[in-house]
Amino acid sequence: MHELSIAYSLVEMAGESAREAGAVRVRAVHLRLGALSGVVRGALEFGYEIATADTLLAESRLHVKELPVRVYCGVCRKEVELKSVQRFRCPECDTPSGDIRQGRELEIESIEIEMPE
Ligand SMILES: [Zn+2]
Repeated sequence: MHELSIAYSLVEMAGESAREAGAVRVRAVHLRLGALSGVVRGALEFGYEIATADTLLAESRLHVKELPVRVYCGVCRKEVELKSVQRFRCPECDTPSGDIRQGRELEIESIEIEMPE
């Protein structure tokens, strides 16, 4: 499962930032996930539970913010949000566009940590 290895690298990155900050525990990880990231959310959440076991992130929550695809429409001269990833056309004027401005994200936005007493 490809999401499991992604979960492991997210946990590693978050754990490293937490350690650098001197934290004893990570309470939550906030993730930005684009509709074109190729990651299945449910599988990632499942992988996260496995990957966090026996780490600073054990029992932490994964908050996923799903981002829709946004493309630039040359006719409307602005960024528009696609209703479906099956249809790369401007929802307003129906012009095809492959100029992707958002939707490929797979990144940690922030982490919530617990500091020693
Ligand atoms: Zn348009």
